[in-house]
Amino acid sequence: MDYPLLCIDLDKIEHNAKVMVALCAAHGIKVSGVTKVVCGHPAVAAAMLRGGVDGIADSRLENILRMRAAGLDVSYLLLRLPSLSRVDEVIDCADISLNSELQTLQALSDSARSRGKSHQVIMMIDLGDLREGVWPDLAVERSKMLMQWQGIQLKGIGANLACFGGLTPTHDNMLQLAELAAEIEQACAIRLQWISGINSSGLNLIAEGGMPERINHARIGEGILLGRETTRREAWPNTYQDAFVLQAEVVELKRKPSAFPGEHGEDAFGGHPHFDDHGDILHALVNIGRQDVAVEGITPQQPVTIIGASSDYLGLDVSALSGRIQLGDILSFDVNYAALLAAMTSVYVKKNCIRGTLFDDRIFCA
Ligand SMILES: *Cc1c(COP(=O)(O)O)cnc(C)c1O
Repeated sequence: MDYPLLCIDLDKIEHNAKVMVALCAAHGIKVSGVTKVVCGHPAVAAAMLRGGVDGIADSRLENILRMRAAGLDVSYLLLRLPSLSRVDEVIDCADISLNSELQTLQALSDSARSRGKSHQVIMMIDLGDLREGVWPDLAVERSKMLMQWQGIQLKGIGANLACFGGLTPTHDNMLQLAELAAEIEQACAIRLQWISGINSSGLNLIAEGGMPERINHARIGEGILLGRETTRREAWPNTYQDAFVLQAEVVELKRKPSAFPGEHGEDAFGGHPHFDDHGDILHALVNIGRQDVAVEGITPQQPVTIIGASSDYLGLDVSALSGRIQLGDILSFDVNYAALLAAMTSVYVKKNCIRGTLFDDRIFCA
């Protein structure tokens, strides 16, 4: 096995997906599994689909193409607003996309018509998170405009919260979305198929029974992959938080002082590290660094302390493992969303999908 390695337990992801899908189904909500944080990894998408998600959503065309090329023939929702410069690719590769700009919608319409295709659209409404979406008082007028264009079909409206502004989904703002849907339906004489209210930040609202009835679609990434709702990052009941485990190899192991006197300036990243002096420690370097992962988002599974990181190394105080740890051992780390995103994106971190347990006798079991 080659390290650093991100170990991906597909059975845990499938299990988490089942839990999310069952929760949502009990409240009349369909789930799109969001794969952007895993760069559209086909095996992860397949695990989500085994867990019962209704389709796959991703922010990047490259990821959707990757999954299609792997033979996953499902419906794909493009999450990031299409760029004007890539509308043809959007029409070719996504079945449905989130949108907020009339000019882009017109370009999608032109492209769809010239390619003899039909493309589905969800119009995003900004309920105050200040990321994407038209302001609510313009939603009806904008919907009427895009109704005139051929090649695109208004399938629903949606909102994304708890992302830029950290605004939490509530019964009130979800009701505002549902009421807007009714207004648009009346003004345009259509029925909207999807009212796509939430991401993983809405799980509590669903579980409490606070979601208005019309909200019938959720786009869930973190809840499935890391088993957490995202307003307080609490572990969701009966899910795994460790479907992804990052592993790295000890490449130096020595007794060293915990601090060293002398003039100190900036470190390699412009930081000003401070080391408390508590005598000699057993000091380890493992072969993972800032080029591989968001170091602040990893938590060691062993009783060791992270004391620093550079591009290529993580420095650890492993004194608690004295006498039990040796050069070449593998240490394991839990990851948060930011760390998972970076580790999946880094070409230097190998990815290994397992179903059940992996055995490598160098993996340190404390
Ligand atoms: C990333 C994203 C999601 C998924 O968010 P999670 O918190 O991972 O569930 C949902 N909707 C949109 C528009 C996104 O960009």
